[in-house]
Amino acid sequence: MKGGYQGRFLRIDLSSGTSDTIAVGQELAEKYIGGKGFGVRFLYDLVGPEVDPLAPPNVLMFMPGPLTGTLAPSMREAIVFKSPLTGLYADSFHGGVLGPEIKYCGYDGIIITGKANSPAYVYLDGDRVEIRDAGFLWGADTNETYEKLYEALGDRTIKIACIGPAGENLVRFALIDCTPHRQAGRCGAGAVMGSKNLKALVVRGGSHLVRVADSTRFLDLVRAAHERIKQMPAFHELGTLRDVPGHSTAAVIPTLNAQRATFDGVDTIAGPLHRDRIWLRHTACMGCVTACSKVGTLRRGPHRGTVVENVEYESLALMGANLGIDNLEGLAYACHLCDLYGLDTMSAGGVIGFAMEAAERGDLAKGDLDGLDMRFGAYKEVHRLLGMIARREGIGDLLADGVKRASEAIGGDCYKYALHTKGLEMPGYDPRGLPGQGLGYMTGDKGGEHVQGYMPDFEYRGYPWQNAEVDRFALKGKAEIVIWLQNYQVGTNTLVKCDFVKRYAEDGGSPTPSEFAEFLTSVTARTCSPEDIEFVGERIWNLVRLYNLREGVTRQDDDLPYRIGAEALQDPPVAGCKLSQRDLDTMLDEYYRLRGWDVNGVPSAAKLAELGLAGEGRSQGIS
Ligand code: SF4
Repeated sequence: MKGGYQGRFLRIDLSSGTSDTIAVGQELAEKYIGGKGFGVRFLYDLVGPEVDPLAPPNVLMFMPGPLTGTLAPSMREAIVFKSPLTGLYADSFHGGVLGPEIKYCGYDGIIITGKANSPAYVYLDGDRVEIRDAGFLWGADTNETYEKLYEALGDRTIKIACIGPAGENLVRFALIDCTPHRQAGRCGAGAVMGSKNLKALVVRGGSHLVRVADSTRFLDLVRAAHERIKQMPAFHELGTLRDVPGHSTAAVIPTLNAQRATFDGVDTIAGPLHRDRIWLRHTACMGCVTACSKVGTLRRGPHRGTVVENVEYESLALMGANLGIDNLEGLAYACHLCDLYGLDTMSAGGVIGFAMEAAERGDLAKGDLDGLDMRFGAYKEVHRLLGMIARREGIGDLLADGVKRASEAIGGDCYKYALHTKGLEMPGYDPRGLPGQGLGYMTGDKGGEHVQGYMPDFEYRGYPWQNAEVDRFALKGKAEIVIWLQNYQVGTNTLVKCDFVKRYAEDGGSPTPSEFAEFLTSVTARTCSPEDIEFVGERIWNLVRLYNLREGVTRQDDDLPYRIGAEALQDPPVAGCKLSQRDLDTMLDEYYRLRGWDVNGVPSAAKLAELGLAGEGRSQGIS
């Protein structure tokens, strides 16, 4: 390997307190590239259906990619594990500086298994690996954990991944917070970390630079990418909030637990208000000139003076519109609390929205609510409830298990307004007016996730597909775009590219697929085309499908929440829109066929052989 790789993984067994290294084989690197690809391969091999996600044999993997730690723009890290929320494959991505530091310590990834006897943190200092007592950190929120570690180690430059109280208390949608407050939010990575009694991973002292095979070509590519990114200031200025309130006008923003898709209060929480009233400066992940992240201070309301990060679009949708919160500082503080407790804002917004509707309908009795006023819009109650969820107190204990389990526990008709797919709470795009996005949720590899089959660009922002306009409401033809997006996004999640960097053609802005292929070629000296990256993405996608089939997933699980099929939206331009079972079947049949899967969503032996996965599906009856 000429560049991009350090040649070894670090493996840590918390049960025995030992660690060793595993070589990165040439074949592994060629077939899976890195990041998500490595994580999928290891999870498939190490964690079978018999493993409870919160039991010691589950693995928690920190997987940067071959471009992480180089100057290639917008690189991040994958965290891969079996999800305690869905019971299926899961990954979650984060930016910041932890991934590069792991590379600089000489590792292409860290694989953590087992469970420490008592609260512990892993300390990596160059080649030194120690498992240390974390008794002094247990119970601390993420901010306090950072500060206590800085003080204990006398060094504010250490890189940290940690959990808050939610992870300690095994909240199924707890997150991992990574320096400097970048969250790996989805699917409960924090709960897996908590189940291992692992409060933090601390990394410093790396001196192994990431080699670049053709530095002249690489630097030319970096310069060209930086120039173009600077010509597109909108994302830098407002980040993911640049399209708010556009999403509401287009009627895609889940509102009041997805009873509507337009939010009357959207103008009071729109992007420019965050910029003018809260944000003070831009921040960026290592090597990213886009710098979409922000830090600011609340200057109004009871929490004046609190330093907060920017609210991302998904958080605004799920914690704002979905809960009817139109108070800007109230919303920003709710998201801040999620960061401190270590809760995924999206799942938290989903499950609280569900509880608000359950209270409104009387499915949750007043006596069940611990004195909380659970009306939509009651943001102060949401602040209190977030703490109860993180500590699993009262009603918070029920909600800490996510929408699916909470609705099953309450019973009755609750399933009709439980918004999740395969147990993962629905993201911030209502699929009734975006059927292709719905198909992305149905077929998402970690449940109903929005990023890998992200269709709003094509379905309502006017992005063409193969030089033709895309009909927003059409069912047919969406599968082809979704499949391409999934393969491409997963392929580049091996590098590991930021999800916000997604330009599909040569029209300015962030790097194109062909440029990412060139980055990989110049770093690793392995000649690579965009089609090669998509092919690796397809291979990984199919391996995850095999993983989830092995866990018991069937065609019936590739669905959308009941409400999406039963209740039509009322607001223009989506008035009357819903997605019936017939609609879902139309899209799913086309999707399976184009994927080379049978009518039950099982990859054919021929498809697996074409992808270099022959024999992998034997335990699922594929031969
Ligand atoms: S675009 Fe934003 S999230 Fe992505 S790498 Fe850059 S700063 Fe990080």
